[in-house]
Amino acid sequence: MPQDVEKGLMQSTQNWLARISFFILIGVFTSWLFQSLRASTQRHLRDIQVDRETGLPNQAALKEDLHVALSSGRPRQEVSGSPAVILVRLQGLWEVMEAMGAQTADKVVRNLADRLSVSVHREHHIYRFSTSELLLLFFAESQAEVDSVASVVRSAGEHEAEINGIPLRVQLVAGSYLVERRVVEPDTVVNRARTALYAAIDSNEFYRSYDPVFDQKTAERVRLISSVRKGLKENQFSLYYQPKVCLKSGRHTGGEGLLRWFSSDGSMVLPGLFMPKLENTTLIDPVTRFVIRKACEDIRQHGLYPVSINFSAKNLMDSALVQSLGRIVSLYGIEPEKLEIEITEGALIRDPAHAKVAIESLRNQGFLVSLDDFGTGYSSFQYLAHLPLSGLKIDRAFVSGLNESSHARTVLSSIIKMAHSLKLQVTVEGIETGEQHQIVSDYGADTAQGFYYAKPLPVSDYINWKPGLNVDTVSS
Ligand code: C2E
Ligand code: MG
Ligand code: MG
Repeated sequence: MPQDVEKGLMQSTQNWLARISFFILIGVFTSWLFQSLRASTQRHLRDIQVDRETGLPNQAALKEDLHVALSSGRPRQEVSGSPAVILVRLQGLWEVMEAMGAQTADKVVRNLADRLSVSVHREHHIYRFSTSELLLLFFAESQAEVDSVASVVRSAGEHEAEINGIPLRVQLVAGSYLVERRVVEPDTVVNRARTALYAAIDSNEFYRSYDPVFDQKTAERVRLISSVRKGLKENQFSLYYQPKVCLKSGRHTGGEGLLRWFSSDGSMVLPGLFMPKLENTTLIDPVTRFVIRKACEDIRQHGLYPVSINFSAKNLMDSALVQSLGRIVSLYGIEPEKLEIEITEGALIRDPAHAKVAIESLRNQGFLVSLDDFGTGYSSFQYLAHLPLSGLKIDRAFVSGLNESSHARTVLSSIIKMAHSLKLQVTVEGIETGEQHQIVSDYGADTAQGFYYAKPLPVSDYINWKPGLNVDTVSS
């Protein structure tokens, strides 16, 4: 028994019991405090690892899970293989968000995650990686296994989700990465899946798996983005105009605005070299807005004939741009009839329903809309009949063989006839010789454009340009 040290007496049992009870109480209190602190920390951790809008684990949760998966090699003994991720982007989610609100967009994401978790028949985790991206984490033995999960993702994406009674479907694009032994950083894993996703977007495909070659392309893309941004700031871009000639009167009736980039070293970069790469970056928007502004300013300042400008697929899908185009040009005091929008078949094929809505909106605002490079894609006349287009530009591929081949002449003449039967204004591109000019005139095309008449010119030359056609080459 313990002693009272001062008086050298034994402690009373009562005192001893009181002390023991006191210590037990402290122990119980400390343990309760510790447990509730731990529970609250865990609750807090769970909260910050969950996306509030969808209830799915978020990027923070992914980081932790990936870290565990990478360091232990596998989450549980019975699961074999290496960690693999598939990053899935819901391409049209921003439009759903704009049209129907953020809550509906969140429901679309949750709905897709639910469909994926039912369809992927292997142990996996699904995270909401960003507003419009989901990420799947699982273990796989080979790239073929990863690819088969990707095809499950594709099938799940093909189904419409019914949100608030409205059937909605957003286009998916995905990139995967199967972890190699030496990769240990979660960020590297996600970055490689993202690189693969960009490669899929660039090649207009649903899915790509990571390939080290992509890193080089990503570096090029980053360099391009920064130099275009610099170019915009430093006025390195310019709009050239290529005249269009009326084949009946031989007169100059309008022109196409074509982008030119004079880079820092003074060399001229043609749009074919950078526009396709820019298409899938956010910079397509400021570049297109530059073209719209420049065309409007030139029309106003020089009283130009109607000008055509080119819209990329991304521009056509950008509802904010499409719906505000009328307002934008009116700010420059330009009538919409003075501007024609050229779109490519690629833009129609990517999302035909959306493209139709966009064309209708442009036409309702008073713009002319032509289908550019006709014949290089897959659109049929039957499909074109359902679109409120005003014109068709036949690609120069149909012109090059006109002199030699009667077959080429028959094809061209049939296209012109069909287009006219749909009440479309027909322009033939790429006329390089007098013979070609004569043939397309004889076949009844309305306008023509090509080096035979003029190359794309800076505005100062364009305003002074006059067609040098002989009267006898002009169709009557
Ligand atoms: P496009 O819209 O079909 O423009 C016609 C292209 O054919 C122009 O090339 C023009 O210089 C070229 N061309 C015209 N006549 C002839 C000819 O007789 N022979 C040959 N061989 N070529 C001819 P450019 O300026 O290099 O533009 C290439 C493409 O880049 C354009 O094809 C268009 O798709 C795209 N592009 C140009 N400017 C823009 C723009 O502002 N925005 C977008 N999204 N795309 C643009
Ligand atoms: Mg064009
Ligand atoms: Mg063209």
